[in-house]
Amino acid sequence: MAIKSKIKGKKKKKNYPTSKKYTKYKIEGGKLVREKYCPRCGPGTFLMIADNRNYCGRCHYTEFNQKK
Ligand SMILES: [Zn+2]
Repeated sequence: MAIKSKIKGKKKKKNYPTSKKYTKYKIEGGKLVREKYCPRCGPGTFLMIADNRNYCGRCHYTEFNQKK
């Protein structure tokens, strides 16, 4: 009887970071409030918030915040 050194067919489970999309939604007074979303892609695509700009990773839309 041959001894199989490697048992194939089993994948090691990897823990992937969960989507943080739910953090972009807030419920205020029974109403669903979304954070800043992309005007091009519509609600569902959120903008990455940087120090002075908001950036959409899907269509590369950039919105500058002009704070003075
Ligand atoms: Zn977009």
